[in-house]
Amino acid sequence: ITGHVGFSNLPNQVRRKSIKDGFQLTAMVVGESGLGKSTLINTLFNLAICPPRESLHPAAERPKTVAIDNIHADIEENGVRLRLTVVDTPGFGDLVNNGSCWDPILKTIEDRYEAYLTQENSVKRKKIIDTRIHACIYFIQPSGHSLKQIDIEFMRRLHEKVNLIPVIAKADTMTEDEVADFKERIVSDLAFHGIRIFQAPIYDEEDEENIAETEAIARAIPFAVVGADPTKTFRASNGRLIRGRGYPWGIVDVDDPSHCDFILLRRMLVHSHMEALRERTADVLYETWRTQRMLELGV
Ligand code: GDP
Ligand code: MG
Repeated sequence: ITGHVGFSNLPNQVRRKSIKDGFQLTAMVVGESGLGKSTLINTLFNLAICPPRESLHPAAERPKTVAIDNIHADIEENGVRLRLTVVDTPGFGDLVNNGSCWDPILKTIEDRYEAYLTQENSVKRKKIIDTRIHACIYFIQPSGHSLKQIDIEFMRRLHEKVNLIPVIAKADTMTEDEVADFKERIVSDLAFHGIRIFQAPIYDEEDEENIAETEAIARAIPFAVVGADPTKTFRASNGRLIRGRGYPWGIVDVDDPSHCDFILLRRMLVHSHMEALRERTADVLYETWRTQRMLELGV
């Protein structure tokens, strides 16, 4: 399977900018332990980004995530460089007392803003190294009920600091109807609690195809995701390799948009909304943080 990022399809303006700066996006995964965060990162890199030989350790061989960990992959296409970094975080929920389990996550986000600010304020440095988190993928347990109190508390603390992208974890454990109902309930819960999830703007000069894609992505959030079982590969009747999860009744193909929204999430990050995620981080989220920080410092 060859993942295709498709820089050649990007608007000229974006391509020109990316050639100059090098494309770079940093995402972070957050959520309770055992929801498949590390597995999804693995699927994301193996499918789309990582050259096969450099493939990452299969999730099965990876120990339980105990520390915040950066995973990078570089690719180049048509002379355009892309560096995707995903920050893996240990899950919460193992502790009896989950109070302030968001602290290490918030600290990671803010420390990176601080590092950016320090560089901005330094006269010597020419090119700023941007390690800010552009997207926070928040994993929701596939319970089919409503959001848990801890998810609401967590997202409430995150949504003004980082672009929040909620996903339903392990969507293969729910039926299609259950997923649709659960999505609806999550969207209304989020609205009720005033939690703002990332929504891509639609630009004036955009063509119909891009608008349709942006709308399809908006409708699919919270994405129902499935991480591929790293210990198995499956074959379709035509011989094509499938990455997914096997069941007695069949195979869930992570690449098949009728099975899950994995492909939409991937496209959003590395293709259609990469610039919008970066822009909102720089112009809105970071600026808000910086203003507050200046007040604190009395500058
Ligand atoms: P993390 O703690 O959130 O990083 O979760 P892991 O990625 O370590 O996965 C925890 C367990 O769930 C492992 O046994 C995975 O094989 C399994 N798993 C991961 N993703 C999925 C998924 O999409 N569907 C199902 N059914 N199981 C999954
Ligand atoms: Mg993990």
